[in-house]
Amino acid sequence: MTDRPLTQNLRPDGSPVWLADYEANGGYQGLRRVLTDSTPEACQQVVKDARLRGRGGAGFPTGMKWSFVPMGEKAGLGPKYLIANADEMEPGTFKDRIILEQDPHQLIEGMILAAYAIQADVAYIFLRGEYTVAAQRVAAAIKECYVAGYLGQDIRGSGYSLELHLHRSAGRYICGEETALINALEGKRANPRPKPPFPQVSGLWGRPTIVNNVETLCNITHILTRGADWYQSLGLGADSGTKLFGASGNVKTPGVWELPMGTPIREILENHAGGMHDGYQLRGFLPGGGSTDFLTPDHLDLAMDYDVIGKAGSRMGTGTMIVLDDRHCPIGMVRNLARFFAHESCGFCTPCRDGIPWIVQLLDRFEQGLATEEDLALLEEKARFIGGIGNTHCALAPGAMEPVLSALKYFREDFEQHISGRGCRYQSLGRGH
Ligand code: SF4
Repeated sequence: MTDRPLTQNLRPDGSPVWLADYEANGGYQGLRRVLTDSTPEACQQVVKDARLRGRGGAGFPTGMKWSFVPMGEKAGLGPKYLIANADEMEPGTFKDRIILEQDPHQLIEGMILAAYAIQADVAYIFLRGEYTVAAQRVAAAIKECYVAGYLGQDIRGSGYSLELHLHRSAGRYICGEETALINALEGKRANPRPKPPFPQVSGLWGRPTIVNNVETLCNITHILTRGADWYQSLGLGADSGTKLFGASGNVKTPGVWELPMGTPIREILENHAGGMHDGYQLRGFLPGGGSTDFLTPDHLDLAMDYDVIGKAGSRMGTGTMIVLDDRHCPIGMVRNLARFFAHESCGFCTPCRDGIPWIVQLLDRFEQGLATEEDLALLEEKARFIGGIGNTHCALAPGAMEPVLSALKYFREDFEQHISGRGCRYQSLGRGH
């Protein structure tokens, strides 16, 4: 099934694909060819031409990111690094987990090729601590690769060498931010670093470093073996390739599906997620995980690609939607998310460290029936400030405010009703929180 490259190896029972079966399905054949026939610069150009955008949330062009890494003598003395960001902690997001648990060699092959393209010497998989099954399977797959000569010195006689290590995160959301991840890998507190310098130039232990998301790296093998034109042809709109889309919440069949970039939201929610449970209506959804702005049923016919969702006032993020129905309280939902982000603040800057807990307190007042019009005005003012780009050191705080601010925009009547009704009308349904 060549039009679904990321999930072509997955088995219905979810059992992992080990090396022998991965090779039997064509795995590592592209690796041998690329390492002997293509230069690192040529690999970078193919990824640029394919117009692959990072699948971790920001959507930055992958080939362009790689092109900032100094090559040859410009890199200076010392190793270069590649890191797979497998710290999948975005609320509602469980797409990378499927690859990590069920097809770990797909990630490893993509990493070897990406590392070759930037001439990295050492690579790490920075894995979410709670992903224990993934940890066991990725570790076993790495071991298989060393035995088979796909990792280590002089990979398959190509002259290229790479060491790959698995690192399990101690478990903080902020470790998904690439510079905080690098600090964590160095054994430091996971605070984001100021940029510049960017990691491509001065990252892990001060050396050039690329941090790419798991799904991004999995795309590399397919792009380098099938070509940029093929990859572009998979997308339905401006963006290339396929995407692991997902849905959770009160839909009939929550899950993850590989679909073309640009697939309409309606198709994902109604065909793949099975639509809403009987008797429930769609009220809104966070299109790209818990740190993105709500969209509403009016947006159902939009294409899931970066620019279209951006123009609609939200973000593609991880492409995994959290769905809100008409019988759950939007304030309860955003309060839960704000509590999560308050807990996950790294504490470095005041608007995030102190501001998000203040937002939680205000949202608590709405749910407890204590909120006034002044609380509503204060909530909006503070959320706008905390969410303002440049008011905090990293994007955690602005992301945390996206559900709150968009709830104020689309579900304002709920805030008004919580004030006038002195509490949450959904609580009588047992669904306030
Ligand atoms: Fe830390 Fe939050 Fe400031 Fe980011 S915005 S640096 S997570 S305190």
